Amino acid sequence: MRAIMGLDPVGAITRSVEAFLVALLMVFAVACEQAKLPNLLLISLDTVRADHCSAYGYGRSTTPVLEALSAEGIVCDAAYSVSPITAPSHATLFTGLMPQTHGLRVNGERLSDFGLTLAERLTAAGYQTAGVAGSFVLNRTFGLDRGFEFWDDYFPAEGSKHPSSEWMGHEVPAGFDRRADQTTEIAADFLRDSRDPDRPFFLFVHYFEPHGPYVPPDRWRKDFPCDQGSSELESMVSAYDAGLAFTDDEVGRLLKVLDEMGSTEDTIVIVTADHGEGLMTHGAMAHGQHLYDEAVRIPLMFRWPNRLAEGRKLAPAVSLADLAPTILELLGINEGAQEMDGRSFAPWLLSPSVEGVTFPVFMFRGKVRRAVVEKRWIEGERFGVLDGQWKFLTSESEEDELFDLEADPKERMNLASSYPQEVERLELLLNPWVRMKSPTDGSGITLSLEERQILEALGYGF
Ligand SMILES: [Zn+2]
Repeated sequence: MRAIMGLDPVGAITRSVEAFLVALLMVFAVACEQAKLPNLLLISLDTVRADHCSAYGYGRSTTPVLEALSAEGIVCDAAYSVSPITAPSHATLFTGLMPQTHGLRVNGERLSDFGLTLAERLTAAGYQTAGVAGSFVLNRTFGLDRGFEFWDDYFPAEGSKHPSSEWMGHEVPAGFDRRADQTTEIAADFLRDSRDPDRPFFLFVHYFEPHGPYVPPDRWRKDFPCDQGSSELESMVSAYDAGLAFTDDEVGRLLKVLDEMGSTEDTIVIVTADHGEGLMTHGAMAHGQHLYDEAVRIPLMFRWPNRLAEGRKLAPAVSLADLAPTILELLGINEGAQEMDGRSFAPWLLSPSVEGVTFPVFMFRGKVRRAVVEKRWIEGERFGVLDGQWKFLTSESEEDELFDLEADPKERMNLASSYPQEVERLELLLNPWVRMKSPTDGSGITLSLEERQILEALGYGF
């Protein structure tokens, strides 16, 4: 064979093969890089109402760490829990299912086997999964550890705020809960000592502060003093705020450990809460009785360096039920989200803007015993829906309430009798959830065709 233009054909072919292999390796390396899943740090703050966070405009500096985190990521301005109590909310956080579907409607019940949990789905996707519970409410007895390889739910008596040895008919082996600094230590130990270098991690951390009783360390009380002559309520609100500031500081300590491990860049950090706290806004000091905003409007923020915008606010209302499907979509895991009640809002996080989008957000209060709050009886279950500016609350035993959150954000003017058509429209949206029985009830789900079509059109699958 004659060499063309003086080139050695064998050498040219060898070089071509080499170039091809190098290009192939580069493509492979890029593909591997693209396929590399980020770590996920999901932090749940117990009993944190959004309007007491300085990251949401509160006058006191309760959450400087969350302020800094929100400047580095995206804050959901109107995030709502599905329930005003701990276990049902966390069950929703872990499954993307409403309490009516996952079956854990009140504290002390067990998560049903219905559906797969986020931890199970992430384990299947190759994640190392670990959870640090902050109180006995999330004990494995109640099934909330499902899918986690590691679940720390032992609470030493020292540091526990609740000395009880029994809760909801279950024996509490030692303490009931742990302080925020103890929670940080366990989560930090996992990050430093127990990580599998060959797998991304999903670490869930539950801070039980600032749940009552409000007994923050003295150091934090000093920053939120009560003036001479403060009312008992003002003193309690200060103590609540101090507990929130203490927790915020502990979140900062955990994020610092993440940074020291060199993992900030490849970790999605999500901070949220399970519900808020009454603080007598509508006659209740704690939580569990109401579905007003102080009980269900929660902080929610995302940080994912180089992938999500910095310092952005997301205006449309989103639900805690939306979080699991959103996480799956952010991670590029296509299986599972369609089986959840919540809808993914990952496209809103990844897009530079969201224009004029609103979807209804549903909420549910499990059965409560008959009680008088603000001179009114409350009893049984209660259902709520937020759609645009309108929020509607209904149940068999209490009066219907309709609020215009734009004109009346403190929910003081019940407009139900003034806007019957709006009430009728929102009732229609709520009906399927009101009538839905938990799969564990054995009575199944009985929805009319019209109800199914409405919910399916809204993206709520069954
Ligand atoms: Zn809680």
